[in-house]
Amino acid sequence: MFTPLNWLLGLFSLDIGIDLGTANTLVNVRGRGIVINEPSWVAIEKSTRKALAIGSEARQMVGRTPANIVAIRPLRDGVISEFEITQAMLEYFIGKAHEQSLVPVPRPRVVVGIPSGVTEVEKRAVYDATISAGAREAFLIEEPMAAAIGAGLPITESRGSMIVDIGGGTTEVAIFSLGGIVISRSIRVAGDEMDEDVIQYMRSKYNLLIGERMAERAKIECGSAFALPEERTFTMRGRNLITGLPEAVELSSIELREALSTSVQIVIDTIKDALEETPPELIADLMESGICMAGGGSQLAGLTERVADDVNMRVWLAEDSMTCVARGAGRVLEDYDNLRRVLVGLERGSTHH
Ligand code: ADP
Ligand code: MG
Repeated sequence: MFTPLNWLLGLFSLDIGIDLGTANTLVNVRGRGIVINEPSWVAIEKSTRKALAIGSEARQMVGRTPANIVAIRPLRDGVISEFEITQAMLEYFIGKAHEQSLVPVPRPRVVVGIPSGVTEVEKRAVYDATISAGAREAFLIEEPMAAAIGAGLPITESRGSMIVDIGGGTTEVAIFSLGGIVISRSIRVAGDEMDEDVIQYMRSKYNLLIGERMAERAKIECGSAFALPEERTFTMRGRNLITGLPEAVELSSIELREALSTSVQIVIDTIKDALEETPPELIADLMESGICMAGGGSQLAGLTERVADDVNMRVWLAEDSMTCVARGAGRVLEDYDNLRRVLVGLERGSTHH
């Protein structure tokens, strides 16, 4: 609603885009860019469920917490399973972004990215969490839409475009035309599942028990989805399950590719599945424009080449692929008149309880 007061507030207030990711939360402030980029982790005291540390500080504690503290990822599977904790996290990040401004400013307007296909109840939960975290106005946008805007895809044109966003907990595939999502897929196979693949592989082939962080490091430093120009090795450290003693295993990048292949194949099958349902006119557009990939998981070495090879289309990695969602969400407020129709509406009266 337009009132002189709203107009005045708008001139001074912060416009914030938030990527509430399953692995990382990013906050983009208009005019300042990405001001927060921290892991979506919260350390809580078990007895009171009070948040003791949030973001990087909480992640440091993972695997090292004393008995009364537990470090969790409240969005692990892409949905808000832990409402109060997610709210504490949002509050902390919005507050932090707000504090960084030099002059006292009104409470911010916030656009938050949510996974596509979340339920009405989950949408309401994110909306409520954003408002109670201190936003003056809160808007929701589907993550693949925000990613596409952040990647600079022409989503409002009639010409079709396509994004594949591989995060920690979820992979989102979406095809756009005329400012809307025509086809979308959201699966719970992404970066975390790849780490899990590596853990399973080490266990069954080498009887070596490794931790999540070791698995992730191996994936990032030495993992791939396509033959590398020069194959490498990675030293896996863990505990031998038979002797119970610490052990190091030299793993080749070829073995690591084999370990990751199940998840990679699932992602590719999902892309194919979405393409199969796409109307022919849009397919013709996509054959020209290609597929844009975003999110941390898309940075897996050789993944764009592998997808291109399998679906026979041009595939590229978005520039600054891990910040697309936060930048795209922020963009909506900058170009509100043109882009507000891409926002997600809420049904009246829905509530998270
Ligand atoms: P989310 O949006 O769910 O928070 P992100 O887009 O931040 O997720 O991506 C996080 C995931 O990306 C993690 O699983 C991480 O291991 C993975 N990742 C980050 N960099 C790389 C890389 N170079 N190669 C493979 N995976 C990567
Ligand atoms: Mg994401």
